[in-house]
Amino acid sequence: MTCSFENCPGEYETQSIAHTVRRDGQIIVIDHVPAEVCPVCGDVLFLPETVRAIERLLADMGQPHSSVPLYEFA
Ligand SMILES: [Zn+2]
Repeated sequence: MTCSFENCPGEYETQSIAHTVRRDGQIIVIDHVPAEVCPVCGDVLFLPETVRAIERLLADMGQPHSSVPLYEFA
């Protein structure tokens, strides 16, 4: 599938990504999320079932699998 950005020649490729969500000022990372990624501009698309799975996961946040180091840029 061609990239949805105008004038971008990229074709989406299925990749496994780390998806970051910010909720109530807290950063939540979900690893190994299947996504369509444009290798040219980096645009990311999720299938509707993937979006639903992410919403289910966020609605029922259990014990995290692991924690990640978080750094501030400034
Ligand atoms: Zn693109």
